[in-house]
Amino acid sequence: MYIVTAKEMYEVDRYAMEEIGISGSILMESAGRAIAERMKPLIGTTDRILVLCGSGNNGGDGYVVARTLLNEGYDVAAVQVGRNLTADAAMHQQVYDRLGGEVMDVEADTFQMALAKADIIVDAMLGLGVRGKLRSPYTETVQAVNDSDALVFAIDLPSGVPADDAVEFEEAIQADYTFIIEAPKPSAFIQKTAPYYGEWKTVSIGLPAAYLSRQAGARTWTEQDVKRSFPIRQPFSHKGTNGKGFLIGGGIEMPGSVTMSSMAALRAGAGLLTVGTLRQVIPSVLSHLAEATFTSLDEENGVIVDTEDLDVSAYDAIVVGMGMGRGESTAALTKRVLEEAEVPVLLDADGLYHIKSDLEILRNRQAPTVLTPHPGEMAMLLDMKVPELLERPFELARKFAIVHQVHLVLKGTYTIITAPDGSQIVNTTGNPGLGKGGSGDVLSGILLAMLMQHEDPMEAIANGVYVHGKAADVLVEDAHSQQDLLATDLMKGLAKVFRNISD
Ligand code: ADP
Ligand code: ADP
Ligand code: MG
Repeated sequence: MYIVTAKEMYEVDRYAMEEIGISGSILMESAGRAIAERMKPLIGTTDRILVLCGSGNNGGDGYVVARTLLNEGYDVAAVQVGRNLTADAAMHQQVYDRLGGEVMDVEADTFQMALAKADIIVDAMLGLGVRGKLRSPYTETVQAVNDSDALVFAIDLPSGVPADDAVEFEEAIQADYTFIIEAPKPSAFIQKTAPYYGEWKTVSIGLPAAYLSRQAGARTWTEQDVKRSFPIRQPFSHKGTNGKGFLIGGGIEMPGSVTMSSMAALRAGAGLLTVGTLRQVIPSVLSHLAEATFTSLDEENGVIVDTEDLDVSAYDAIVVGMGMGRGESTAALTKRVLEEAEVPVLLDADGLYHIKSDLEILRNRQAPTVLTPHPGEMAMLLDMKVPELLERPFELARKFAIVHQVHLVLKGTYTIITAPDGSQIVNTTGNPGLGKGGSGDVLSGILLAMLMQHEDPMEAIANGVYVHGKAADVLVEDAHSQQDLLATDLMKGLAKVFRNISD
């Protein structure tokens, strides 16, 4: 599924109208008809339906919904919010009106009465065209709808929710269902705005699909994508061809981090795994898995420090950072790996902290670099506060990945993966059961294994993030709850996920 910004969507609309020749009023007709069809199973035949129409395209879609339902015998009335309708919206208002439809003014008393009696409200006030904070009469109307007990269906975007980011976002219609036209917009995946959508479904209105796919800067990663791109283990493969991975991490007080990454890397298919950690940490890793080999790294005050004669040339991919510590010399080790390794390097946790002051190292690398920050770590890298980052994660992640030429995995409820060219993949698997220390360590281990088994780093990362979340989902469906799930349980979940992929 593609994800499109307002700008991209307007371009697809323009192309459909100007170059293909599907007029705006036909697009409106298609949208309204399709949405009315989708609504019907969710509404009762005696429900009182109130359709609130804005002055733009969103309002025009609303008039088509109102007319379609009226024509089929439903109890419908429309409300005009905002003046100076666009030509297409005015045309559909007239068609509805000539068919006997009632249009109230939002300022009229009849509107307040109708609102109090409504069972269903269709919010067709503002869509892609919303700019800045809500103005009157939208402000009061949004408030009144949110105070009512009616079931609320929004068209494309709940009015007030911007398509792309939550920077100036303050208030919006709280929808129960949103019928998104053609493709979801970034705000459906942003913490501050996503809840306003309620449940959402996309509705196709016949926009040119190939053109939309070329315009879209982002997409979601589905089970079909995973099945299509997941590497098959070949009969003549062996531990050497399945990838030799190197994991650096684990200070004296954080032996679990590197342990979980290591378990995950092997469970995710790594052929061979070497763990670079402190001598004192080795027994703790070994107690959980016998399959890894070790390189002991130098220690100072319980953390890993730069270690002479460390050879990074023997591996197919390297992960640095989990629980390794934040000493100056620890940072030197991280930078050395980045400079010397000619294979993919993934930085997580303390590894991210180490490069904060030397981000230019990243651009100089030839092989892929993958960064896996959670929002706190990303905000640290960007020198901003977390809430500010979470208002526009797509845009900030894209800029960062392009400027520093990295594969950026911005973790969260919807993890956003950005390639060095700025293209983005959004993961939709996973659940709040993952909100527990260690989940990220498991992810970095899985990603190490994926990077070694796949030519294309974007596909490798997307598959890894997908299976990580999916493992949590299958565990919560069967054996566990979101409450009790532990990061180490994910290994069991992986077995089920991988078996399903190869079915
Ligand atoms: P479009 O017609 O571009 O698809 P909409 O259907 O969302 O967009 O309608 C956009 C119209 O809504 C604008 O022309 C403007 O008149 C109005 N509008 C946009 N932002 C606001 C706002 N914050 N408050 C009130 N009205 C707004
Ligand atoms: P740690 O460093 O403790 O191992 P991180 O914060 O680095 O944990 O990583 C947490 C992982 O869990 C990320 O992959 C993140 O996407 C996932 N996660 C956390 N909360 C949720 C949630 N509510 N829904 C989906 N995934 C989540
Ligand atoms: Mg972490």
